[in-house]
Amino acid sequence: MAAPPASDLVIAHLLRDEGFRAPESQDAARAVLEAAGLTRPKKQRIAAEKLERARDAIGLAIARSCGSPECEAALADDGRTVVRVEKPACVVCSGSNNRRGVRRMVQACRAAGVDRVLVVGGRPPLWAELEREAPTLTFRFVDGTSNLPNQNDAFQHCAWADLLVIWAPSPLPHKVSGLYRPEMCAVAHRVTVHRRGVEALALTVVQHFEPS
Ligand SMILES: [Zn+2]
Repeated sequence: MAAPPASDLVIAHLLRDEGFRAPESQDAARAVLEAAGLTRPKKQRIAAEKLERARDAIGLAIARSCGSPECEAALADDGRTVVRVEKPACVVCSGSNNRRGVRRMVQACRAAGVDRVLVVGGRPPLWAELEREAPTLTFRFVDGTSNLPNQNDAFQHCAWADLLVIWAPSPLPHKVSGLYRPEMCAVAHRVTVHRRGVEALALTVVQHFEPS
């Protein structure tokens, strides 16, 4: 039998590096890779060039939690499956996954020539994190709870933006999201995010530009 190519990664090691140490956590993450068609049951190794896609798939499907009550509470309505990980990989109390996701988003936007990003929905702490982690993109944020825009504001926002992100599960009444519906808002790129959290937003944008 031929030796596996040196560039292959051991799946268990990849998952451990992503924070999944406990056997049940590894199983949960592995199931995501299998569902995404990135590996098959019993396969031990994965081609190195699939690493980025594997991380994206995990980040979209799983919210990593260190298990502290605060972090568990913060993820209660995340929309993704919450899986227990080592603390450095916790999506709430360690920013590393968010940072990686936003870095991927910045790359994908750059490759698509996207510079101006209009985010409709979300809350100020999340906006601040996006701005901090993606300083090369220009953001505008629309609050769904106060300072509500009128249709004219929305037209101007849409004329400005290269990419519109509707952050659906955040506090976002239909009367606001309706101002940005496709027939009212002719924007080059439109992404609707159905999960909470910066990582989920970033990876949904990546998926739009780099469909697997
Ligand atoms: Zn945590």
